Amino acid sequence: KPVVAIVGRPNVGKSTIFNRIVGSRISIVEDIPGVTRDRIYSSGEWLTHEFNIIDTGGIDIGDEPFLEQIRQQAEIAIDEADVIIFLTNGREGVTSADEEVAKILYKAKKPVVLAVNKIDNPEMREQIYDFYSLGFGEPFPISGSHGLGLGDLLDEAAKHFPKSGQKDYGDDVIKFSLIGRPNVGKSSLVNAILGEDRVIVSNIAGTTRDAIDSELKFNGDQYVIIDTAGMRKKGKVYETTEKYSVLRALRAIERSDVVLVVIDGEEGIIEQDKRIAGYAHEAGRAVVIVVNKWDAVEKDEKTMKAFEEQIREHFLFLDYAPIVFLSAKTKKRIHTLIPMINKACENHSLRVETSVLNDVIMDAVAMNPTPSDKGKRLRIYYVTQVAVKPPAFVVFVNDPELMHFSYLRFLENRIRDAFGFEGTPIRIFARERK
Ligand code: GDP
Repeated sequence: KPVVAIVGRPNVGKSTIFNRIVGSRISIVEDIPGVTRDRIYSSGEWLTHEFNIIDTGGIDIGDEPFLEQIRQQAEIAIDEADVIIFLTNGREGVTSADEEVAKILYKAKKPVVLAVNKIDNPEMREQIYDFYSLGFGEPFPISGSHGLGLGDLLDEAAKHFPKSGQKDYGDDVIKFSLIGRPNVGKSSLVNAILGEDRVIVSNIAGTTRDAIDSELKFNGDQYVIIDTAGMRKKGKVYETTEKYSVLRALRAIERSDVVLVVIDGEEGIIEQDKRIAGYAHEAGRAVVIVVNKWDAVEKDEKTMKAFEEQIREHFLFLDYAPIVFLSAKTKKRIHTLIPMINKACENHSLRVETSVLNDVIMDAVAMNPTPSDKGKRLRIYYVTQVAVKPPAFVVFVNDPELMHFSYLRFLENRIRDAFGFEGTPIRIFARERK
């Protein structure tokens, strides 16, 4: 999908516009209880166009001076985006900070669409003419708070979308990526996998803007590794800005069926690992937790168990993900990765039989009565699987208000007990039967 970035000095309304554009999408996702929500990156739709959009204002640059922050955000946008929306504020006119942003964008050689925000009514339209001076042609008047003008703006942006984006692999190709903070050993793992005995590497040429795709075959099955790690060493911003690597990770996750969340066994789990793992979970991808550098850990017979408990404690939301302890360096247990990826992928697209599913749920209800409120009891009529990748279930009930999160969780666990689903998240919703 093409990538659109919103750039501009603080307070021009970047996040408002971002939320407007992705609005409907995000509210769907919000049904799902999650651990983290990062709003800097999301997908949007306009007419027949689908695209991804970045709010660079949400990228935390740290304690740099004001102008330096703007500069870094703009550079990220230039690097990441196919089209840049340069946002300004019609109520304040052209400021020197706008001019600074403009200077950086001139050099970008990427299409820039200039938008003037906070033009809330037609009388204010005259305000936009000043903005021609920024040198990006016709300014588009918009109003984030009223949702005006966004259609025209997106039409203009869509004119600049590249003809074909990233390479699309067939549905029979298993796509997986490795995510994790810097230095956990992602690149080393990719090399270890590619160097495996029975792995036939067919192509490593698929370098895209944000990742290197390696195509490989194992036991007759085709895979693609989406490797973001190698791109990291390009410049200063890449290393200093955590959210920037997060952006990369999010893009890789989006293209993956299975995500390997890599943890450094030597250093243990830190907060950043948790956030990164949260993205994979929220995106609904299959997940395998990989503890790398296990060779470097001093251990006895209890060490692995203890580490596993730590992982479970820190990543409560990933209770479905299998864990593997291995070493990219010594290659120990590297060969177990692909079978685990296969299994997780299979479960991710598993469809269960409706009648068996309903038997499982009815047994569960018999065991643990449904919640009730003010004398009204929740009634479950039936359950149906509505989607795969990840598997999603709808529970039809008399009144969804009576459904507790904990009861849904209970049902989810019964479904897992009955069908497995190891390695994949499950979505489960209550809906009223009409
Ligand atoms: P990335 O940033 O996640 O891609 O990490 P790299 O693959 O660049 O690895 C970071 C460092 O960890 C390098 O110095 C590697 O040699 C080292 N490393 C990677 N895997 C292992 C491992 O399994 N065991 C040990 N002891 N070191 C490793």
